[in-house]
Amino acid sequence: MHPNAYSPAEWEKIVAFSATKETPFLLVSLDRVRRKFQAFRTHFPNAKIYYAVKANPGKEVLTLLRDLGSYFDIASVYELDQMLDLGVTPDRISFGNTIKKARHVREAYDKGIRLFASDSEADVRHLAKEAPGSRVFFRLLMDAVTSDSDWPLSRKFGCQPRMLTELVSLAADLGLEPYGISFHVGSQQREIPAWDAAITQVRDLYDQIGRNDIHLKAMNMGGGFPADYLVKSNPLSVYAEEINRYLDLHFGDSTPAIYLEPGRGLVGEAGVLVSEVVSIAKKSKTDLKRWIYTDVGIFNGLMETVDESIKYPAYTEKTGETGDVILAGPTCDSLDIMYEHYKYQLPLSLEIGDRIFWLSTGAYTASYSAVEFNGFPPLKTYYL
Ligand SMILES: *Cc1c(COP(=O)(O)O)cnc(C)c1O
Repeated sequence: MHPNAYSPAEWEKIVAFSATKETPFLLVSLDRVRRKFQAFRTHFPNAKIYYAVKANPGKEVLTLLRDLGSYFDIASVYELDQMLDLGVTPDRISFGNTIKKARHVREAYDKGIRLFASDSEADVRHLAKEAPGSRVFFRLLMDAVTSDSDWPLSRKFGCQPRMLTELVSLAADLGLEPYGISFHVGSQQREIPAWDAAITQVRDLYDQIGRNDIHLKAMNMGGGFPADYLVKSNPLSVYAEEINRYLDLHFGDSTPAIYLEPGRGLVGEAGVLVSEVVSIAKKSKTDLKRWIYTDVGIFNGLMETVDESIKYPAYTEKTGETGDVILAGPTCDSLDIMYEHYKYQLPLSLEIGDRIFWLSTGAYTASYSAVEFNGFPPLKTYYL
């Protein structure tokens, strides 16, 4: 079996490259990132694609996307500096985090950023003062649909429709340019109707806001596009076809400019996290389950396994009869257990020193890795 649609030749290459390196590390296929970016372009021909930098801020990934003409969504002035250092001009960058210090708003404005997202009165006032005249996306709360996603961004972001319309008026009064509405249906959102629900709501809001003579020009549909994990999802083409149909249905000829901010959907399937089995144990002689401790865990890459939210395929070159395992990381912290309730199966022949390949780990792994919890270094990344 060559998981995640790797051809035998591609998989050979990954194993051969890995054999020469000390684990754990993330191996990113730039070719897969390129192909996925092109797929987003093909399937959403009219959208501007703002890569969500936080998903994988590796320099090679950013450089590749820069050269492919991508736009970028940043979460902080630190990501902003990283993008500017790579020669990306500020007109290709949006500051999408609604939570930011007033002085960071000013810093971003001084460095040329003119597109922001907001969801609160305090932030709108900061923007008006520190980034005068800028374009603003107003983020709509999506609590009803994000709860269906595997990694909900839920209650933390966005505001209710009533408040959103008030913020739009306030922003206009304060000299900002209300530019559009943004939403995020929840990360790893497999349910396509979530986008329909969001688009319907946005359509209503455009009409309401239009009656106040403010004509929004754009809609930012955020990220949420799923990657294939243990649970498979439809290909991007299916999501795109449905979403484009909803847009047509709800907006027809008056479809606003579309912005997308894929993170996981763009880079998730491009990564393989390579780890080694550090120890294998049973809690009693008759225990049927083996505890497999690997050199990667919650703190050095597999953060999204918290609550077993994201179930990465775990692959080994060992074959033969399999049995239940509990998978845990290497640190002295009992939170550092990846999978205990969901029954992963690994070969009984698995031994200390064998490698475990975690698939679809291109997003939210290296960027989530602690700096030196228990002295373990941050996750290294190599590119293939
Ligand atoms: C994290 C984030 C994204 C990316 O989400 P994915 O589910 O990884 O595609 C997009 N937009 C904003 C504002 C985000 O915070």
